[in-house]
Amino acid sequence: MFKALVIDKEGAGASGITAATTRATIRDVDDSALPMGDVTVRIAYSTVNYKDGLAITGKTPVVRQFPLHAGIDFAGTVEASSDDRFKPGDAVLLNGYGVGESHSGGLAQKARVKADWLLPIPAGLTPRRAMAIGTAGYTAMLCVMALGRHGLVPGSGDVLVTGANGGVGTIAITLLAAAGHRVVASTGRLHEAEFLKQLGAAEVIPREQLSQPGKPLAKERWAAVIDSVGSHTLVNACAGTRYGGVVAACGLAQGMDFPGSVAPFILRGITLVGIDSVMAPMALRREAWARLAAELDLAKLEALTQEIPLAAALQAGSDILAGRVRGRLVVNVNA
Ligand code: NDP
Repeated sequence: MFKALVIDKEGAGASGITAATTRATIRDVDDSALPMGDVTVRIAYSTVNYKDGLAITGKTPVVRQFPLHAGIDFAGTVEASSDDRFKPGDAVLLNGYGVGESHSGGLAQKARVKADWLLPIPAGLTPRRAMAIGTAGYTAMLCVMALGRHGLVPGSGDVLVTGANGGVGTIAITLLAAAGHRVVASTGRLHEAEFLKQLGAAEVIPREQLSQPGKPLAKERWAAVIDSVGSHTLVNACAGTRYGGVVAACGLAQGMDFPGSVAPFILRGITLVGIDSVMAPMALRREAWARLAAELDLAKLEALTQEIPLAAALQAGSDILAGRVRGRLVVNVNA
């Protein structure tokens, strides 16, 4: 038996029209509850990402298989493997591939997954550090890599990071500042401005400057943008991006809509790059994790991380959707 945060489906409404709801509980489950897979992992740490909040609260139907262990990522040690690439005792991590959505995931003491989905934990990172980074930090690195592929170099100009106090935002700021960029952080929590500056933000602006409907083109301000917010914020970020600049869009904390104009694309030649961490090819993942291990300031990572036990993950699911989590939450599933 082992502990898991399980998402169950509750019955549909009597008419059959009311959408079925879900319920999250932490309980003991049997090894027989594990899905098919080549590698069984003893999990040490998982995290609460924004998508985990959606799964735990049922706010958006991201879970597509019931009952399911939540958790879109984990780090731990191989317990058993029928695949030559992994042997018992190996330290491994996993992000995405539908884990925590359609395949039982990391908010549990054990998982069984396809070997193709696993990465060795890079030298320099422990399972705890790997999950302090988690899917949010790995996504932040995918964004940084995308900006680099589109020509951003230190000295290019101001780089805007929206949703600055979130998981993607805090790690994006830390990575960009360490690489020598001047980072402008947009946040709804101005009382955290000093914290954001300690991570490396040169300037902190209120989220309201970007979150309301704006003009198709604004003053050219940003050399590049990492946006985890979407909606009007993403539109305004594009409108304020300098000629030839690049915007990496990875999130929807404000909304999934994109109520904008083509003006920044056809008049300023800006590039909007979509970032997906879930099905990103393995080569990209390896590069992202190698760079995280090499470039992320571990003292800053610790400063933006809070550790919680598995039992606290239920409440954390609501907190992250309400924008009450600062930085990263790492979950000790054995505490
Ligand atoms: P967090 O909740 O940690 O961060 C989101 C931040 O956005 C909040 O901290 C807050 O920052 C800001 N925010 C929250 N609500 C609003 C709002 N209504 N309007 C404007 N800003 C808001 O989440 P993560 O960093 O883990 O994820 C961020 C986004 O990226 C999510 O939408 C998530 O689904 C997405 N994501 C996508 C991935 C992909 O593969 N594409 C992978 C990982 C995440 P502040 O208080 O500073 O304003």
